[in-house]
Amino acid sequence: SVPVLTIDGPSGSGKGTVSRLVAEQLGWRLLDSGALYRAVGYAAGMEGLDLSDGDAVTRCAQSVKIRFQPSADGADTRILVNGHDATDELRTETAGAAASAIASIPSVRQALVDLQLSFRKPPGLVADGRDMGTVIFPDAPYKVFLTASAAERAKRRYKQLKEKGLGVTLGTLQREIEARDERDASRAVAPLKPAEDALLVDSTGMPIADVVAKVLAVVRP
Ligand code: C5P
Repeated sequence: SVPVLTIDGPSGSGKGTVSRLVAEQLGWRLLDSGALYRAVGYAAGMEGLDLSDGDAVTRCAQSVKIRFQPSADGADTRILVNGHDATDELRTETAGAAASAIASIPSVRQALVDLQLSFRKPPGLVADGRDMGTVIFPDAPYKVFLTASAAERAKRRYKQLKEKGLGVTLGTLQREIEARDERDASRAVAPLKPAEDALLVDSTGMPIADVVAKVLAVVRP
């Protein structure tokens, strides 16, 4: 079957960047599953839904049209939600918190399963998320769980958001990220945790290129 490399971990662990670079190196497709949850949270917000209304948000997750529009170099993929380019809105920590809220609803997660599975196409897939190795692709031959210290993760996210011109303070961001990780790790369904057969990689203090090399070595030893 088509090989999958799953890269799970908390926010700011470097998953997004590492997944993109590794997919590029391997020539494999990329699934940014966090963007799907962000898109559902965003679409639900646009419809004025109460994010704790499981039935309404589930209907929204079932009907929302999410499209990834890759740029020439792959570094600036645009994300269209119901035809609207929502890339910038989806990056904010507000969108992250909304994603985390709706991601704890089991039927919302269920609504996104087939879409995620459909990314598994030759020659291979790099799947970035929280439950890629545990729930969506449990049979994946390659699994990584990427972490970094809480302080370093907050710093990375801070730098990313600042580069995008989004004003945030480091202290507030660190608290928001910790609250989101705590919620992701403690929810009843698909909690954030390493798959038993995942390689744990702690990227604290590691240059991105070294992390990429370590992850690539899982697929090409
Ligand atoms: O990775 P990202 O920060 O974009 O994910 C946003 C939120 O979406 C996470 O905090 C998590 O609650 C949810 N998520 C999830 N399962 C995934 C990917 C993301 O529950 N596979």
